[in-house]
Amino acid sequence: MSGSWVGPDGHWSNHGRPEARTALDEARRRGWWFRKATGHGFGTVRCQPPEAGPEACSVPIFSTSGASDGSDTAAAIRRAIRRCPHCAEPDEPTSAEDAGALVEKARNCVGLAELLLEAGDQARYAADYLLEAERFADEADRYLALAVEADEASEQAFAEAGALAVATGEDAGGGVSILIDAAVDAVEAASQRLKGERSAYALRLRGAIKGVREDAARLRARMDGANGGRKS
Ligand SMILES: [Zn+2]
Repeated sequence: MSGSWVGPDGHWSNHGRPEARTALDEARRRGWWFRKATGHGFGTVRCQPPEAGPEACSVPIFSTSGASDGSDTAAAIRRAIRRCPHCAEPDEPTSAEDAGALVEKARNCVGLAELLLEAGDQARYAADYLLEAERFADEADRYLALAVEADEASEQAFAEAGALAVATGEDAGGGVSILIDAAVDAVEAASQRLKGERSAYALRLRGAIKGVREDAARLRARMDGANGGRKS
């Protein structure tokens, strides 16, 4: 599981790239929260404390994807800050529809995690890695399109970060850990939402949640296998 969330006044890990560090400071000054990644990624930021619920905007932060000064990472953080609607007027949490959006987000995260693992495998086994990476980046674009359709800024940020990671051959393990954490967080939040819901839709969503949990467990096991003796 993932580590715990740290508030704007707590200790945030230092990002190795200057632009990313600056943008993280901006997020912190606006009251955002930080959680260190369990794998070798960097972590995640979100616009509200964890108890505020699943509507908070969140952005996965990678250690080494994108431009070497961290400007791509910084851009993703600033975009999320710009788009965040919560600081002005907090949302009223409700309904199975929210749970549906969360499950969709979880599925996208798991899908991207799988793509990152595939890309990692290709890096190990295929000579024509760049071609394969391109193919996976195209796939990631498809997820990005889905995320945009789902009309949630945080989903888009996840998808963009995933696409970036694939396109740049980011150390797959970090991205995968972050995405799996995000997927598990999302389905946990979704099942909280569904407590007491008895509609057919809620029943279907519970099935989907089970599927995401199984996928997450499978991907984690696969990642452990791929890491072999490597510490993560
Ligand atoms: Zn927000």
